Amino acid sequence: MPGDTRRLGEFELIAELFAPLAAPGGFGLTDDAAIITPPVGSDVVMTKDMMVSGVHFLPDDPPDLVARKLLRVNLSDLAAMGAAPHGYALGLSLPPEVGDDWLRAFAAGLAADQREFGIALLGGDTTSTPGPLTLSLTAFGFARQGRLLRRSGAHPGDAVFVTGTIGDAALGLMALRGALADPDGFLAGRYRLPRPRLAAGAALAGIASAGLDISDGLVADLGHLCSASRVGAVIEAALVPLSSQARRSIGHRPALIGAVLAGGDDYELVFSVPPDAAGALERGILGAGVAATRVGRIVAGEGVRVLDATGVDITPENPGFRHR
Ligand code: ADP
Ligand code: MG
Repeated sequence: MPGDTRRLGEFELIAELFAPLAAPGGFGLTDDAAIITPPVGSDVVMTKDMMVSGVHFLPDDPPDLVARKLLRVNLSDLAAMGAAPHGYALGLSLPPEVGDDWLRAFAAGLAADQREFGIALLGGDTTSTPGPLTLSLTAFGFARQGRLLRRSGAHPGDAVFVTGTIGDAALGLMALRGALADPDGFLAGRYRLPRPRLAAGAALAGIASAGLDISDGLVADLGHLCSASRVGAVIEAALVPLSSQARRSIGHRPALIGAVLAGGDDYELVFSVPPDAAGALERGILGAGVAATRVGRIVAGEGVRVLDATGVDITPENPGFRHR
């Protein structure tokens, strides 16, 4: 991993790099713990995601992008619950080869996204490790009581929607591995830097019957919604919204539709909407800055089936990424 060896000790590291990122409730990272004060009538929503060098990112990935992805995958989970970001705690296990330069760039990445998404640092912990660089982030958000976007609650007859475009990140990972052309870098960018759909998630809470973010792949994640709601779903592949770049790739290699349906890391939202909520959805999603596209429907039964334009079942055999 590039960068000089570390000269800052643990306390200097916290004071120099992380204290400037602290939220008011973090007391400048000078106390033993932080406080979170939710607005009256709100619940605190909590989520945690970890990233390990060599597993979730590459040792020579730009540190600011690693930081922003770590923050954004957690923000995506808050979005998927319909919560607004508040603060986060950071866990760092640092191997000797991670130097001050790496950590400075990492902190700069956090600072940039803190401004973009309105979230700040509450605290954390720092250790050394003989193993790979391991990053852990716990994010806290607020949601009005009774207005969470849960995975359960979908019913047969509900329509299934997604935000944004699907499959760009899976194709982007292929491009980064040299297996696909990506002339303008759009696909790789979608893999490296997800856009948590916070405004959409907040707008959908109270309108959608169920929803979650797509981190494992459209088919797999809609499958999670179906299991939690005890229903099945049908996706019409021809309705799945594609970026022009993804459309071009599939035009050259039609089999790539499998990667689009089963690939993960898009961090778009997939959600179900009762038939009588179509108007509310249209009004709600208007201000969210992202399109919502109907891709299928909830049915009785279990599991997710994908149909092509002629009604042939093209459900991918391996529907998505399985976490260990
Ligand atoms: P303790 O030994 O009591 O756990 P620490 O020395 O670990 O205290 O932490 C001191 C302060 O620095 C605490 O406020 C803690 O939240 C903060 N802190 C430590 N590591 C990090 C980190 N990686 N990111 C943010 N804050 C941190
Ligand atoms: Mg500690």
